[in-house]
Amino acid sequence: MTDCLFCKIAAREIPAEIVLETDRALAFRDINPQAPTHVLVIPKEHHADAAALAQADDGLADDVIKAAHAVAVQEGVAEGGYRIVFNTGPGAGQTVFHVHAHMLGGRGLSWPPG
Ligand code: AMP
Ligand code: ZN
Repeated sequence: MTDCLFCKIAAREIPAEIVLETDRALAFRDINPQAPTHVLVIPKEHHADAAALAQADDGLADDVIKAAHAVAVQEGVAEGGYRIVFNTGPGAGQTVFHVHAHMLGGRGLSWPPG
């Protein structure tokens, strides 16, 4: 996708603070963090949302979730607890239509979310 913000981050055309990279996934800090640790984890390949990612049916969703957990360990929030969120669709607050897992941690996280 030529006009996709996160494809451009994956292509290093737009800067981001990258914290982890694997063959197929990239993790970088959210520009507007909602917790002390707030990292976005994307597949490098473009898929619009979690539903499209699941339908890719080639283990890519698995790679993204494993990368999110690896970031939680790396950032030191895995033991205290962290949250992985895929906002899916405008009604759920999705604003960037390149699927991304929010990995949030480093503070108490209430439930239910807003
Ligand atoms: P969502 O609302 O679930 O689609 O999440 C999009 C997220 O992307 C928001 O939390 C934004 O703060 C974040 N974001 C937008 N632009 C950038 C950027 N250039 N670098 C890092 N994070 C960004
Ligand atoms: Zn994209």
